[in-house]
Amino acid sequence: MRRIVVVGAGQAGLLLALGLQTHGYAVTVVTDRDAETIRAGRLISNQCVFHPALTRERALGINFWDGTAPEMLGASFGLAGDSAEPAIAWQARFDHPAQSVDQRVKVSDWLTAFAGRDGEVRYGKVTPEGLEEYAREFDLVLVAAGRGPQFDGLFPRDAARSRYREPQRTIGILYLVAGNDEPLPVYPGLTFGLSQAGELFGLPVQSVRGPVFGLGFFGVPGGPLDVWDDVTDTDAHFELAMTLLREQFPWVEESLAGARPSGPLDALRGRVLPIVRDPVGTLPSGAKVLAMGDTAVTNDPIAGQGANMAAYAAAVYERRILDHGDRPYDEAFLRGTFAEYWERAQHATRLSNDLLAPPPDHVLATLEAAQTAPEVARRFANIFADPADYTGWLADEEIARAYLASNAA
Ligand SMILES: Cc1cc2nc3c(=O)[nH]c(=O)nc-3n(C[C@H](O)[C@H](O)[C@H](O)COP(=O)(O)OP(=O)(O)OC[C@H]3O[C@@H](n4cnc5c(N)ncnc54)[C@H](O)[C@@H]3O)c2cc1C
Repeated sequence: MRRIVVVGAGQAGLLLALGLQTHGYAVTVVTDRDAETIRAGRLISNQCVFHPALTRERALGINFWDGTAPEMLGASFGLAGDSAEPAIAWQARFDHPAQSVDQRVKVSDWLTAFAGRDGEVRYGKVTPEGLEEYAREFDLVLVAAGRGPQFDGLFPRDAARSRYREPQRTIGILYLVAGNDEPLPVYPGLTFGLSQAGELFGLPVQSVRGPVFGLGFFGVPGGPLDVWDDVTDTDAHFELAMTLLREQFPWVEESLAGARPSGPLDALRGRVLPIVRDPVGTLPSGAKVLAMGDTAVTNDPIAGQGANMAAYAAAVYERRILDHGDRPYDEAFLRGTFAEYWERAQHATRLSNDLLAPPPDHVLATLEAAQTAPEVARRFANIFADPADYTGWLADEEIARAYLASNAA
């Protein structure tokens, strides 16, 4: 039996490890945090997961939150204008419900499930040098240790595939509950607000202590939503979030009247550098290791693609490993595996990168047409689940205008 180690126990690494486990592989997961620490820790992400990724979780029998987590039924879009009402507004259903389960819940439960199914978990922070030891012990080393610079030297930036050199948004997310412990009267899906200052994303989430509403602001650097650097506690975050809501997205304010923060650790503030890396790293010994998830491709979370693509990576990597049988995991195998993933993941990166730029006129025209043409609204709402449709449609002005001409009447 092949010996496989996955460094990192997040959406990518655990899904792959749990998947390979169902096929009888003896997978080892190495991670720097145990399940209790993750669950008791600070908010990690907003993790809206769409139907394709949920289907994969269900197939593995690890979607433990169906029936508990609030279903996200669609998208509610508003473009800020000159008054308290949005200049453009529409709602559309997703073709299939999405779901957001707090990663502190999801990842800790998956780690426990993996160990409970006889998976080996080792604890410790793996360094680039430390990978050498794993390369000696295992046939295949996968690095799924999330985003950030820790493996910069091993997986350098792919200049041709990375559009930005700096983070493009300042992010502030806070989880809210109603002051009276009743459910908040929020839209049962993704609330998406767009203004010149940036974006608002709101969504119902199944969190550590039950259902909450995740309220996230994505600010263009230097603009009125780029305000989180000096905020250090949740109460100050809450006050600022309510002010931003009133000033930038006033039509959302009413549904959050009476809301309060759900807990002192239920906030996150920061920036994400979007980057695509060379996914195959060579250790000093010459051994090759393969990156996956955010370690290979980090998207700004503006389009909610990272966890979805991590799930997709797990599916592709798993099938490639199964198909490969007993042959050696050589560089051609590693590159071919990432290439198959990138074939589709490139659309998620394109969507994420394009959303970070000011919307071109044909996209604004599409958003406006969606107000009166339900099929246009439906198609727009569903590009987040199927970003390839974005590339084949809105990314191309000519195609987008032709589509509007025949669908927006
Ligand atoms: C604010 C925000 C909002 C987001 N919203 C969404 C969304 O709505 N939808 C969506 O699809 N995606 C979203 N994402 C992105 C999503 O969270 C990530 O893309 C996804 O979690 C990536 O999974 P991963 O397994 O690659 O990395 P991670 O989930 O980061 O997991 C990495 C794991 O590796 C461990 N680790 C790290 N370093 C080491 C080391 N040196 N040694 C051992 N273990 C290590 C970590 O503890 C962790 O368990 C969002 C991200 C952010 C920041």
